[in-house]
Amino acid sequence: MRAIAEEASALVREYKGAFSGEHGDGICRGEWVAWQFGPQLNAAFKEIKQLFDPENLLNPGKIVDTPRMDDPDYFRFNKGYKGIPIAPALDWSGWDVLRDPLTGEQSGPGSAGDPTSGLIKAVEMCNNNGHCRKFDAGTMCPSFRITREEQHLTRGRANTLRLALSGQLGSDGLAGNDVKEALDLCVSCKGCKRDCPTGVDMAKMKIEARSAWSKKHGISLRDRFVAEMPRYAAYARHFSSVIAAVERVPFLSDWIKRTLGLAEQRALPNFCGNYLAGAAAKQGNAVYEKEVLLFVDTFNNYLEPSNAEAAQRVLTAAGYHVHVNKAPSERPLCCGRTYLASGQVDKAKAEAKRTLEYLMPFVERGISIVGLEPSCLLTLRDEFLQYGYGEQAVALSRASFLFEEFLVKEHDAGRLKLDLKALETSRVLLHGHCHQKAFDALRPVEQVLRWIPGLEVKNIETSCCGMAGSFGYEREHYEASMQMAELSLLPAVRKAEADDLVVADGTSCRHQIHDGANKTALHVAKVLESALA
Ligand code: SF4
Ligand code: SF4
Repeated sequence: MRAIAEEASALVREYKGAFSGEHGDGICRGEWVAWQFGPQLNAAFKEIKQLFDPENLLNPGKIVDTPRMDDPDYFRFNKGYKGIPIAPALDWSGWDVLRDPLTGEQSGPGSAGDPTSGLIKAVEMCNNNGHCRKFDAGTMCPSFRITREEQHLTRGRANTLRLALSGQLGSDGLAGNDVKEALDLCVSCKGCKRDCPTGVDMAKMKIEARSAWSKKHGISLRDRFVAEMPRYAAYARHFSSVIAAVERVPFLSDWIKRTLGLAEQRALPNFCGNYLAGAAAKQGNAVYEKEVLLFVDTFNNYLEPSNAEAAQRVLTAAGYHVHVNKAPSERPLCCGRTYLASGQVDKAKAEAKRTLEYLMPFVERGISIVGLEPSCLLTLRDEFLQYGYGEQAVALSRASFLFEEFLVKEHDAGRLKLDLKALETSRVLLHGHCHQKAFDALRPVEQVLRWIPGLEVKNIETSCCGMAGSFGYEREHYEASMQMAELSLLPAVRKAEADDLVVADGTSCRHQIHDGANKTALHVAKVLESALA
């Protein structure tokens, strides 16, 4: 490289050209442009820099006093750089490969002998181009948008992880404080997965970091409270009136929330129903001409069962027999996302295995698995593929659709007959869940809403709503959560006309809209249900 640069520089000089213009006079070209300006101007540059930046804080070593371009200290992969041996919780073997630079041929997953089993390779995909610093880069990156700190940016996080995984942040590796701090405000929105030009998937990397942290430091009471919700929700339902009574006694509810590490401003969950209990009891073994399996998540099942009822009515009205994700005497199947949030990957994998085993016969019969909550259903399409469950996971991921995606798919195949009438209202404001946007699954919501005669659909341009699962509930994150919501979502909802409907498919998003703008947002299934002819 040096020989090429030397020759190129000499040629540029011979032909009286310029080695660089306005851009790129950093470390790479610094040593080759000094002659362009001559000794007098270079001395003046130095003097000006010294006057305005006496402590040399701003871009040190660029243009003035540049090092040699090939000084290995400035290389990302400097001498001795290599990953530390770790066993990641997720399967990153797809990154642990070798590619022949001439033929492009690639070795099989896990064949390159990377000590991090591919994880560091995925992290290294961040090439530092800084696209994530933009404010118009889709969803990415809500935490940076509120703090404007490099540490809270996808790139800053990737660099921190890279240093940790190459042993440059001490022996704690991913379980260290630097990593924890860098990921603290990451809301796992998956915005970067879609919006970053190299597809850096920080949400998944955060699962690894949380997993390493909880293995070393244990799992907090709050993390258990959130993670185990799918298990205790069925029992908590019997205490819903007690929980509601507690909420009415401020000092008691504040004490409980403080003990759990929750924000006092948030309401305790209202476990008001159990859709699946009734629906599972009615399941039979008959085969129908048109069938679907409605995958009802913990939140819609126990906190907002009317969404599941609405989806069932719409699907039934369209002629589908609806199966559900629960065998009569068993706990409902679960995507395991609440475990992933605290890095309990083993438990999430156990949930996934149970789910796969139950759903495979349906998938093999060509029955679509249809979910209501984007973060849950899309776990079947995304994280399930990194548990090492092979072809079955791939088959399930291909058979899994969000409610509105399924309707559009069936419509396009000429199989859907849904008679819809006009609503009393004529406009809907639509807020997309981050994971819907990450999977390009927001358009189907717009499409199905437009099937309703006379309904105008207005998309609210938003990043993350800020609730992001339990993030907005967490005491220390409440302010950050509200700041994210105030970036665009809440102001847009507040500006809505009184009879505008607000549609948000995410449980967290609806909750945030309610808390921040005092407006009830609806799942699209409910809007379609009310438009059934
Ligand atoms: S947009 Fe992606 S590749 Fe670019 S700096 Fe950010 S994380 Fe890195
Ligand atoms: S997942 Fe979201 S918050 Fe986290 S780094 Fe990516 S864009 Fe930022």
